[in-house]
Formats: sequence, C-alpha cells, structure tokens
Amino acid sequence: MTHRVAIVGAGPSGFYAADGLLRGRPDLRIDIIDRLPTPYGLVRAGVAPDHQGTKAVVRQFDKLLDQPDLRFAGNLDIGGDLSWEELVAAYDAVIVATGMVIDRKLGIPGEDLPHVWGSWRFVAWLNGHPDFRGGPDLSAVKSVAVIGNGNVALDVARLLAKTPDEMAKSDIVPEAAAAIAAAPLTDIQVIGRRGAEHASFTNNELAEMGRLARAISVADASVLDAVAPAADPTPEKLRKAKNIETLKGFAAHRPGEKPVTVHFRFHETPKAIRAGEVDLSTGPIAADLVVTCIGYTGEAFPKADGVFAVGWARRGPSGTIPTNRADSHAVAKDVIAWLEDHDPKSGPDILPLAVDAEGWRRIDKAEVAAGTAQGRPRLKLVDRQALLDIAQGD
Ligand SMILES: Cc1cc2nc3c(=O)[nH]c(=O)nc-3n(C[C@H](O)[C@H](O)[C@H](O)COP(=O)(O)OP(=O)(O)OC[C@H]3O[C@@H](n4cnc5c(N)ncnc54)[C@H](O)[C@@H]3O)c2cc1C
Repeated sequence: MTHRVAIVGAGPSGFYAADGLLRGRPDLRIDIIDRLPTPYGLVRAGVAPDHQGTKAVVRQFDKLLDQPDLRFAGNLDIGGDLSWEELVAAYDAVIVATGMVIDRKLGIPGEDLPHVWGSWRFVAWLNGHPDFRGGPDLSAVKSVAVIGNGNVALDVARLLAKTPDEMAKSDIVPEAAAAIAAAPLTDIQVIGRRGAEHASFTNNELAEMGRLARAISVADASVLDAVAPAADPTPEKLRKAKNIETLKGFAAHRPGEKPVTVHFRFHETPKAIRAGEVDLSTGPIAADLVVTCIGYTGEAFPKADGVFAVGWARRGPSGTIPTNRADSHAVAKDVIAWLEDHDPKSGPDILPLAVDAEGWRRIDKAEVAAGTAQGRPRLKLVDRQALLDIAQGD
C-alpha cells in the first residue's frame, strides 16, 4: 500500500506541488482537486487573455495529468461538496493550494455602488470563469478609474484600451470583447497612492502601455522627480529605475493624442466614490466605472496535522507563476518527510470524479477547435453545465 495525497486547488502551486511530490516519491498516489470543471487556476481565469505566452506554462501541467497515479477531480468544492474533515480523514496528507481571490476592499464610502468592480470579479468575467458571468454595463462608460499600482491594474487598463484587432489573438470571452469594443471610452486613470518609485509594475507590462494602437499613455509631472529608493536591493532598484524612465517618456505625451488617454496619476488617495466620480486627495475625477486592483484575501482552511499550504494560500497574493515552483517544491519535501513517519491509511476511495483528466481533455479539445475556427487560441465555454456536458462526453 502506498500513501495518498490530496491537493486542493489545480492552479500553478497545486501542480508544482504534485511535480515536487512525484520527483521525491514517484510511487505516491495523488489527487488534484478543483471546484471548477477546468484546471489551472488563475492561469486560466486571472492572467490576461491577451498574454497567451504566459498561459503557455500549462503545457508542463498538462504533462503531469498524463501520469498514471495522478488523478484530476474537477467540479468538486472542498468545504462544500466534500468537507475538509472528510478529506483530511481519508488522505495521508492534504496540500491546500486554493489561492486567494476575494477582492480586498478600499474601505471608503461608495465602494459598494454597482459601478465599482473588484479586479478579480472583472478579470474573471472577461476570462470566462463560470461563477462570474455578467460583466459591468460599459455601454455609457467614457471614463474609468483603475485603483492600484501593480500589474493587475495594468492588465485592466490595457484590456480596456486595446482595439478588437489587438485582442484578435486572445481568448477573451466574446461578450466581454464586444462590450469593451462598443464602450464610448476616452479616459482611463491609473491611480497610485504613493509615488512612481513605489509602483510594483514590471517593466515589460508598463512599456506595453506605450505601444497601444488607440491609446496614448500620459504620466503626471511627479514622475520627473521620482528616484528609485537607494536602500532597495539591486534588482528592485533596476526595475524601478526602468519604470521611472518609461513613465518619464509618458510624461512627454499629450492627453488626447489618440482616441483613448491612459493617465498615470501618483500620490493620489481615493477618499470616496459617487456615481460618475471618484474623490481623490486633490479633488474629484470623472469615473463611470471604477476597478479596484488592491490585492486579495483568501478563504479559511483547516490548519491540522498533515495539512500543508502552498502558493498564494500560504504566502498571500504576491508573486508570479514561477515564484510558486520553488515554494511548492520545498513544501513537497516537507510532505514527503511527514509521510515517512506515518503508515499509509487504509480506507475507501471517497473521491467523486465528475470531471477527470479525460473530461478536461474533452473540454480543452472542444474549446481549441471552436477557437481555431475563428483564428483564436481557444473559445472558452463559460457555462458550468456546458462544461460538464462536454467533459462527460454528452
Ligand atoms: C488578475 C491576475 C493576473 C495575473 N497575471 C499574472 C501574469 O501575467 N504572470 C504571472 O506570472 N502571474 C500572474 N498572476 C499571478 C499568478 O496567477 C499566481 O501567482 C498564481 O496563480 C498563484 O497560484 P495558486 O496555485 O496559489 O492559486 P490559483 O491560481 O488561484 O489556484 C487556486 C485554485 O484553487 C481552486 N480552489 C479554491 N478553493 C477551492 C476549494 N475550496 N475546493 C476546490 N478548489 C478550490 C480554484 O478554483 C483555483 O483553480 C496574476 C494574478 C491575478 C490575480
């Protein structure tokens, strides 16, 4: 008899954990569970649909799904369909790889108005997450305030600013693409509380904002005096210095040079939100839609013996996809050490396999075929029942 490990969450950290386990203990039986009928977590539902190169990481995870002793169990919510206690009792170890995707709140008046969207809800909509159908009404949206200074803020601004041609090779869901294309957008304000030297944009993503077909990026004058903090470690200093150079280039642009202007505004704290505007520290700005990109929190999970967390569930919502690899491999070593001290449990297989790896492959094949017909990488199925029907071969 061999040990059985359940991994809850089929995002990058879950797959990297499976990879780490199999490197150290190829004999293990591993079940990787997700509440969605599809694997890959934020690579599918968060990473921007026009950044297909980033999404290509899933090819490594696909290979893991070919391993005979690794099962995928999709459409199974732990804490809902099956309790954490049942899972912990049935498996020799449980790895929690559930991520963190509850939008953090700004804590200011007006935040609950219908035109205020958290970035998770917004990107989940345009990425086709089945639990987040129905996006914001963009039909009269001229101005957007994007609050936050990380890459997710850039993703949101860029996806709104791009033309249908620029999105043609993406896998954005058609309803979102059509809503964005039809919006009478003229201004997108990207708002940061601190100076440009503190923004956590990566430079490739920031520089891309300077190459958009219908949008010109401009920056406020504060960027001209911004300097990367001397005390920062060298890679951070270099990243920030490059960002400041890029923003200085934006500061030389004039608003209105193209149909859409993306304004980078620093040292501005949102104080309140009302219909049509956001109050900043220096006064109100127009905003028919507000998207907050200020981070995430997660759902609770049990902290018991034999339960190990990885990825965003362990570290919080920071770090890129590759960051999860070393982290998950290290935790996999701890799991292997734990298993050495514990005899394998005997007991029945409790896992319902509504969508297994074969089912996911059917979904994948159907989506890719539908996308290919339109010259796109895939056309996502966004309805849970439709996903289940395809997975089950109906
Ligand atoms: C909008 C956005 C854009 C991003 N863009 C990039 C990018 O361009 N490049 C980059 O490198 N990184 C990017 N990241 C970061 C990257 O996505 C994360 O580092 C990574 O996805 C974290 O992996 P994870 O496995 O911890 O969590 P996740 O990817 O969130 O995976 C968690 C999985 O657990 C499942 N789950 C949760 N709870 C349960 C439960 N109770 N039962 C069963 N299943 C459950 C979820 O359905 C999900 O599939 C982005 C993040 C966001 C939010």
